[in-house]
Amino acid sequence: MKSPIQSYLESLHAELSSLRSGEVASYIPELTKADPDWFGICVVTVDGVAYTAGDTAQRFTIQSVSKPFVYATALADKGRDFVGRRVGVEPSGDAFNSISLHPRTGAPLNPMINAGAIASAGMAAGTTAEQQWERIADSLGVFMGRPITLDEAVYRSESDTGFRNRAIAWMLKNFGIIDGDPMAVLENYFRQCSVLVDCRDLAYMAATLANGGVHPLTGRRALPAPDVERVLSVMATCGMYDYAGSWLYEVGLPAKSGVGGGIIAVLPGRFGIAICSPPLDEKGNSVRGIEVCKRLSRDFGLHLFNKA
Ligand code: GLN
Repeated sequence: MKSPIQSYLESLHAELSSLRSGEVASYIPELTKADPDWFGICVVTVDGVAYTAGDTAQRFTIQSVSKPFVYATALADKGRDFVGRRVGVEPSGDAFNSISLHPRTGAPLNPMINAGAIASAGMAAGTTAEQQWERIADSLGVFMGRPITLDEAVYRSESDTGFRNRAIAWMLKNFGIIDGDPMAVLENYFRQCSVLVDCRDLAYMAATLANGGVHPLTGRRALPAPDVERVLSVMATCGMYDYAGSWLYEVGLPAKSGVGGGIIAVLPGRFGIAICSPPLDEKGNSVRGIEVCKRLSRDFGLHLFNKA
């Protein structure tokens, strides 16, 4: 017999398929190839059980959903104090590509905007950019529960057109936030954004955070337990860019979106949620993804501040 959660997800998916607003990201030329009809929802419990509806095996690029996981890697490798000196934990209220740096120290306001994410990529363990990439790739693979692969065309496309991110990386170099060659660190950031995922992969990554940092199926620890609350905190306050406040108000879960159309949300101790749907609103968040999370939160009382 079908579980009630499975039936619920299928009817929610059918209902929200008719939601047609939003535009597929076009500022990275290769991303325009995404099909606006791709739509998948996946919920993975901390026991590793997956519930899926729609296109959950369709691959797309992770984009900014990689940011909390690479921040986690920096925390694990360099420790909270070192990382805290180089990236803040304050919401910027600005767009994802804003150059929001602390006026005196140059530290990006948080790791969920591009500036903070590029800085985080530069803090992965390794003495060369190649070693740092190996570390990032390995870490993302532990979160996902399988080795990662890249969409080379998206990577090239972003590297060929990422002038604004290049300016940000040089600013970070100017302030001593990046050691070594900022262009090599930036290429690693472009690579991490080009990692191919499907909705299921993202839900397992979210479930790993929900499960205290241990992948529910492989049993491998992806980050030290004390770092989980740090990562979830910045996701809660900064994960949805300049929609973060409204998101916390309406949905009440730590989350992260990406311009590929992915969104993850985490209910600590219970489950991870992932949605794939490429059409984005003007802030760069998946339109259907937001709607799915609003509905799940409301229908199941998931808001973290309503647990009395
Ligand atoms: N790779 C994208 C960029 O840096 C990621 C942005 C996003 O997903 N919001 O522009």
